[in-house]
Amino acid sequence: MHIPIVREALRQAWQDSQPGIDGGREEGGFVIQVSARKLSVVRWPKGAQNSILVPPHPGCTIGGKIIVASFHTHPNTGTDFLQEPSETDKRAVRNDPDLKSAAYVGEFVIARETIYLITPDGQVRDVADPEVLFAQP
Ligand SMILES: [Zn+2]
Repeated sequence: MHIPIVREALRQAWQDSQPGIDGGREEGGFVIQVSARKLSVVRWPKGAQNSILVPPHPGCTIGGKIIVASFHTHPNTGTDFLQEPSETDKRAVRNDPDLKSAAYVGEFVIARETIYLITPDGQVRDVADPEVLFAQP
């Protein structure tokens, strides 16, 4: 996933979520395959308050394109706020029948210290230091 457009999209989502100790707001989206060698990103619309609205994605596709990953941010960097993926986050991925295609790697959760990956079966792994992922090539 260390593909420039994906890295740039994750960085933009992190910036847009205005990370800080007093909240920020979650941002998220889908990474889609637009051709054999090209990925693109579809950002999710913002909902009320701090919610994000995940658009319908039948059969792990959106707009006819295959979804290869999803992501959302955890912008609240306060110490009493959960940085890692929540049980709700894990359940949302694990229990979504429309996030089960062979091409789908899971959902990235972008926090200040770490980027986590929730795999389609609901397991969580640390995949990257954001400093590394966001560094200019
Ligand atoms: Zn979350």
